[in-house]
Amino acid sequence: MQTVPLDFLGELRRTHDCGALRLSDTGKRVILMGWVHRRRDLGGVVFLHLRDREGVTQVVFRMDADAEVHKKAELLGLEYVIAIEGLVDNRSKENINPAIPTGEVEVVCEKLWILNESNTPPFPMEDTVDVKEETRLKYRYMDLRRPRMQRNIILRSKISLAVRNALYKEGFLEIETPFMTKSTPEGSRDFLVPSRMQPGMFYALPQSPQIFKQILMVSGFEKYFQIVRCFRDEDMRADRQPEFTQIDLEMSFPQQDRVFEAVEALVKAAFAEAGNEVVTPFPRMSYQEAIDNYGIDKPELRLPPFKRVEDLFVGTDFPMSNDMPVVAILTPKVGQISRKERDDIKAFGQERGLRVFDDAKRLERDYPEQMARVKERLGLNEDDLLIMATWSCDPKGPKPKDTVLLACGQLRLHLAQRYTDKHGLLDPKVFKFTWLTEFPMFEWNEEDQKWDAAHHPFCSVLDEDIDKLQNDRANCRAKSYDLVLNGNELGSGSIRIHRRDVQAQVFDALGLTKEEAQSKFGFLLEALEYGAPPHGGIALGLDRMVMILAGETSIRDVIPFPKTAKGTDLMCDAPSVVADRQLRDVGIQLRVKPAK
Ligand code: ASP
Repeated sequence: MQTVPLDFLGELRRTHDCGALRLSDTGKRVILMGWVHRRRDLGGVVFLHLRDREGVTQVVFRMDADAEVHKKAELLGLEYVIAIEGLVDNRSKENINPAIPTGEVEVVCEKLWILNESNTPPFPMEDTVDVKEETRLKYRYMDLRRPRMQRNIILRSKISLAVRNALYKEGFLEIETPFMTKSTPEGSRDFLVPSRMQPGMFYALPQSPQIFKQILMVSGFEKYFQIVRCFRDEDMRADRQPEFTQIDLEMSFPQQDRVFEAVEALVKAAFAEAGNEVVTPFPRMSYQEAIDNYGIDKPELRLPPFKRVEDLFVGTDFPMSNDMPVVAILTPKVGQISRKERDDIKAFGQERGLRVFDDAKRLERDYPEQMARVKERLGLNEDDLLIMATWSCDPKGPKPKDTVLLACGQLRLHLAQRYTDKHGLLDPKVFKFTWLTEFPMFEWNEEDQKWDAAHHPFCSVLDEDIDKLQNDRANCRAKSYDLVLNGNELGSGSIRIHRRDVQAQVFDALGLTKEEAQSKFGFLLEALEYGAPPHGGIALGLDRMVMILAGETSIRDVIPFPKTAKGTDLMCDAPSVVADRQLRDVGIQLRVKPAK
């Protein structure tokens, strides 16, 4: 409710923003506008910090200079919106505030317009105050006013611009694709939009613009990109959002290397925007190399790889199974750890079907020669932690060799994360990129007893694996690739299938009948018959990239209006029930009671 008389903005224009004034502006008459950030009332003098997007300027109201303006200033509360006109003055030495760029000056106010008042803010507009995320999301408009969120959202905008500029420079065109479309398979559930004009029919929100961007290549646009929202209806794990933003691109006539070059250019530009220099080209590693050395398809390269050492123990009584790897994991600079910590590490491995050897001293006693070579292979230093692991011989435990390596990969990361804080092993300012290539084309779906596409069904197969499409699907590799940064997947893509006959074979391998393929993807299959050029592309997660560059650990902190883990927008309270009439319009009758 309004408690103070308000003024109109009228024709008033700012002369400066609140971050602009310096000592050299002393004596100038200025008009500033913004929010009351802080307020001190010393009887005869009121001091304000006036804030806008660009910064903060101190404004003074003196009773002895202008009693009327001073009186009006006494009405002001925090976050009131005001305009002031006054003269820039230099601050006395003892009043200089080196913490802000405008700290050497203040504006002596002569005119004050109160443009709007504010309720008491639900939390202070400072980063130093910890506020529950629920409260932050409910009052997102206030949370976004705080310096950290302002910084993050501004950085996001600048990164998007840098990406656009970099891609334009490489000859890409920004082209829109529809949001109301037909399902595109990226392995998730679709969000559906009922059609009113065709009752009983639904659009799907795109999980990605995949098919459209491929069709744009058929249409001859050659290089497409879009910074685009994608929608996936997944049960949300910690840091997922039902709608998220991808830097999506596609190009015609590329080898994998051409795609890499384009991406490296945009990544370089984006990182430079945040003040980080990135060295390109990025190193490359095949999927199998990653599994063999890191036990994961998104290797954390700030830490050394693990080493396979089973060959060193052949002919000894080391408890290992013939065809199973023995893995030695080095975690740098850990020093001594307690019995309890060792037990925890062991338990972590055991839960994943591993037998863990946590006592390197004992191993050295029992296998002195072999262990000397293990240490040499790892390049182990005095204070590094050495943990070894192999298959637990539990028939219920993981069997194929890769599964053991994957479990060791988890153990390696567990150790790294556990000792990160203590030893700063994972420095967030160190950026280790790598391209992962030659992913498997298929994944065996145990539940449905069929092959699924490991990435999506439009990836082409490595030229040398083309026969495996029919007769050795487990070992059939795709021309697909991921960009990995510090153990995060930043994006993935592939060289696509551009021939109808090959695309039909892949649908067939995935168990799609001809009719199913036709009803789902008929338009793509047809388009491929009209001179589709070889093409390929990639999509990179903008949210994650900005998160890393902003030094944040949650993507919610770089998305202006994110949703909670339950998919709720706490500010506007979506999703929500709709009026009966709206449901009737689209021919829908609910089979469940709304959840709230
Ligand atoms: N559409 C794919 C995805 O969103 C990326 C690509 O293959 O370009 O994962």
